[in-house]
Amino acid sequence: MICYRFGVLVNIKAVLLTLLQKKKLDKLGVLYFLSSKKRNYDIKNLATHLDKRLSVIKYIEDINKSCIVELTPYGVYGRFAIPNKITVNIQRPLNEIVKTILHELVHLELEGKIKSFSFFQREKIVDKKVKKILKGVKSIESK
Ligand SMILES: [Zn+2]
Repeated sequence: MICYRFGVLVNIKAVLLTLLQKKKLDKLGVLYFLSSKKRNYDIKNLATHLDKRLSVIKYIEDINKSCIVELTPYGVYGRFAIPNKITVNIQRPLNEIVKTILHELVHLELEGKIKSFSFFQREKIVDKKVKKILKGVKSIESK
């Protein structure tokens, strides 16, 4: 089950974490936002749409713990925090946000097994699993 969180505190945290890791993110070529194009987001509506898209993915249906998904226009596309928290950037198309949530959920699942690997190796492993999960999910095309 997924619980969505959003608001000023989530936004401040996203900005601060990004600023603290800016050097590392720039070195890795990871994209992030420190400003927002839009002033207001209809986040409740967004959460409803995300739930609808995510509910058709069996992998997500099978997760038997509750996960917190923080929605913010700031920071990197996605990040995760063990054991059950994800933060996703909402300045992106809906399908991209859905894929990022899935990507971070796979990170949460695999982190214990792959944490000794390099950043790029971990990303490769996670992306491969995401691609496999999305195979056959018609509403979210897999690249
Ligand atoms: Zn990743």
